[in-house]
Amino acid sequence: MFKRDKDAPSIISPLMIAACSKKKPDPNRMKIRHGPDGTHIFDRSTGTNLLLNEKIPHLNSWTNSPRQVSIALTNACDLSCVHCYAAKKPANLKKESVKRWMLELDSAGSFGIGFGGGEPTLHPDIVEICQFGQERTNLAMSMTTHGHRLTPKLIAQLKPFIHFLRVSMDGVNSTYENIRGRPFSDLLEKFELLKGQIPFGINYVVNRQTIKDLSTAAEIAATYGATELLLLPEEGVGLGNKIDPNTIRELQLWVEDYSGDLRLSISASHQSIVNTQIPLTKELTHLAFVHIDAEGVLKESSFDKSGLKVDDNNVLEVFERLSSRRELIA
Ligand code: SF4
Repeated sequence: MFKRDKDAPSIISPLMIAACSKKKPDPNRMKIRHGPDGTHIFDRSTGTNLLLNEKIPHLNSWTNSPRQVSIALTNACDLSCVHCYAAKKPANLKKESVKRWMLELDSAGSFGIGFGGGEPTLHPDIVEICQFGQERTNLAMSMTTHGHRLTPKLIAQLKPFIHFLRVSMDGVNSTYENIRGRPFSDLLEKFELLKGQIPFGINYVVNRQTIKDLSTAAEIAATYGATELLLLPEEGVGLGNKIDPNTIRELQLWVEDYSGDLRLSISASHQSIVNTQIPLTKELTHLAFVHIDAEGVLKESSFDKSGLKVDDNNVLEVFERLSSRRELIA
């Protein structure tokens, strides 16, 4: 039974409850991290996050692994979106490497893995990797996809293993079609397949062209059962053009006015726009998130050009080297 001492001033952030469900947390699979904000407890089956901050753990016991790790399984993609950030050099991660990293990260205290790409459903071992993560670790697993490869069969295969799916949808109708080069009606068919199967949210790249569709897109997504809208102001990376200041201001106003059902979140570089109420205010940036690209290079973020190759090394040793390099530069 998951209990909380009623006298302990704990903070539960609604934004951090990634996959609200009626399931009960499984005490045998809960994960714990210690840090400057307190003791953070997480259960992947319900998405419950609990921060016990009455007593701050001693520095020596702080968890020294990244809380969340995104892994680009492949650079391959069958779309050609106009703002694509993904690397174009062909690369696929080996399933053996990904499995080994997952075991290591899980035992060191990481809470979740987000698979991406490229298009992660093009990785030949995607189902096997997700199954491994579910059965052999206590990591929460999410995946970002353009959605067009989802079929009833693939959804049924992924459903037992993926806790949250992020589907890209930047605009509706012709706005979407001009960016993604696929009929918007095809995406809606995929939402219909997903409805009630795997908890999902929308990833929305915000720019001058897409901002006008934001309200309609949020309404449509909610009718199909999406629970979250992740706003991604466009970055000047890859084929992307950095969002202009006027659009940022419009986005701020939109967020202030939004009263729909979707939980709003936003990329780290624009955190001030959405009040996420994340209580981990003292968490060191490098411990919050890291990225491993499709060539096996560990980076501080997916936008970084350089990092350190993991290869056959222990991923946490490479993480520590990357963190020390960061301290030296700072
Ligand atoms: S943005 Fe995503 S879906 Fe579009 S081409 Fe790039 S990797 Fe593929």
